[in-house]
Amino acid sequence: MNKNCAGHRRKDLLPALGFAVLLVLSIGTRAVFAEQDAADEAMATIRPEAIRADMRFLADDLLEGRGTGTRGHEIAAKYVAAEFEAMGLEPAGENGTYFQSVPLRSIRPDEKQTTMTIELGGKSEALVFREDFISGGDAGRAETSVAAPVVYVGFGVTAPENAYDDYRGVDVKGKIVAYQFGAPPQFETTTRAHYSSGDVKLANAAAHGAVGTILLYSPSLEQMYPFKERARDLAFPDLRWLDAHGRPNDYFPELRGSALLSLDGVRKLLEGSGKSPEEIYSAAKEGKPSAFVLPAFAQLKVVTRLGEITSPNVVARLRGSDPQLRNEYVVYSAHLDHLGIGEPVNGDRIYNGALDNASGAACLLEIARAFSKMNPRPRRSILFLSVTGEEAGLLGSDYFAHYPTVPKDGLAANINMDGAALLWPIEDVIAHGAEHSTLSAAVQEAAARLNLSLSPDPSPDRVFFIRSDQYSFVKNGVPAVWPSTGLKSSDPKINPNEIRMKWVGTIYHMPQDDMNQPFNFESGAKYARYVFLLGYFVAQKTERPAWNAGDFFGERYGKR
Ligand SMILES: [Zn+2]
Repeated sequence: MNKNCAGHRRKDLLPALGFAVLLVLSIGTRAVFAEQDAADEAMATIRPEAIRADMRFLADDLLEGRGTGTRGHEIAAKYVAAEFEAMGLEPAGENGTYFQSVPLRSIRPDEKQTTMTIELGGKSEALVFREDFISGGDAGRAETSVAAPVVYVGFGVTAPENAYDDYRGVDVKGKIVAYQFGAPPQFETTTRAHYSSGDVKLANAAAHGAVGTILLYSPSLEQMYPFKERARDLAFPDLRWLDAHGRPNDYFPELRGSALLSLDGVRKLLEGSGKSPEEIYSAAKEGKPSAFVLPAFAQLKVVTRLGEITSPNVVARLRGSDPQLRNEYVVYSAHLDHLGIGEPVNGDRIYNGALDNASGAACLLEIARAFSKMNPRPRRSILFLSVTGEEAGLLGSDYFAHYPTVPKDGLAANINMDGAALLWPIEDVIAHGAEHSTLSAAVQEAAARLNLSLSPDPSPDRVFFIRSDQYSFVKNGVPAVWPSTGLKSSDPKINPNEIRMKWVGTIYHMPQDDMNQPFNFESGAKYARYVFLLGYFVAQKTERPAWNAGDFFGERYGKR
């Protein structure tokens, strides 16, 4: 991107306007041009080398994969804060610092003492941990157990606005509910993602009076996140943030036990029910699962090792230039944490998280540098938020959205980054969530200006919308968007979908997501310039970002 071509083109139009019109418009337009010039100049300072350098540091083995609550993540957080300070950005964390300390509970199942049995027709079968079942532990109790009949409830979704209810026709009071991953495919992409959320399903199960939950693996989930990998990831503790009373987030004590069943485990559970696993999978795939009572009775005992840790979010502020609008914040976010040290894969046990998400963190820094050089500054204030605990469930962002370090009603919009566009030279972007709010205008404006096209989400079944930190802001009523890489490339010799599928299958959440990948940093810089410009347009518009009238998320969470 060359600042000259963008900055001067529109000025050339001016002589074509009539003199009188020019007189009337001149003061206003000159101000607008000066502002746009400042933005173009700032945008042009975004450099691929800077993104590469920050990534190289953050993804170094020395930082040991930046696991939440570890020394490696603390070093990364100190580095981000030091960079913010060097840019001249104000500290916007707690007590005049750049940090917000997030209190967390760590949750590890005791595999030896955690048991599950299925009783059927007087016979009792003990399931094998890691083979048939897994439990991630209980966030509130060191020991809990439940013994109850099991009811199958499809996806476990109740969506009145879609006239859809998986609990129709069954009474689950005092029962254990069993359900599949995902939500009906006929739902619109982002609401489908919302209803696929584990926390939404747990809340729904508890509201229906269930006392336990079982997530049933399906071939499609197996393809996305193999059960073996899920078991391997038990090396990373589950985490929840704690409120002032020490209560974990999204915790339902009335659910006295939860487990996941492998494909083998599902077969065992369904025995004698008159339904085969294939039948329930294909009914769900068609969006028409139906609930039924299983003949089986399940017993689950969950023993958990609970611990308490803290981990920092890092927050910096650029104060806006407009005396009114500066009380509103455009929040840029990117998670700094990754998985840490886990089980070895090909002899490597450090999960460096280079693309996921040293790349987003590096873009956040480079975008912050660009904004910090702007004169005049953008009209709204900008917050740069590096969050912790994303991999364990969007925890740092959810904590921040609940307890922001600036007045809560000042959070105007969130723009999240999780994975910069480094795998091929990009030609398009996907703006997850933009269709729900007026942010779509800035999304389009920025794309048009950089000759990027906008594409719809190509994989609604992968529920991306709930899989990164923008969803925390959405759930707290703040219009949000996650601009991510599209599947078009400016190089016709490249097949982006092939590269993506290979990356997801062999590198995603593996120690191999390190700096030894053939990254295209030029493309990463293009992505960062896009995200910069998008936030700039959001910061400039007099109208505050708003949910669209009658929007699903606006109605549910946006009434402030
Ligand atoms: Zn991740």
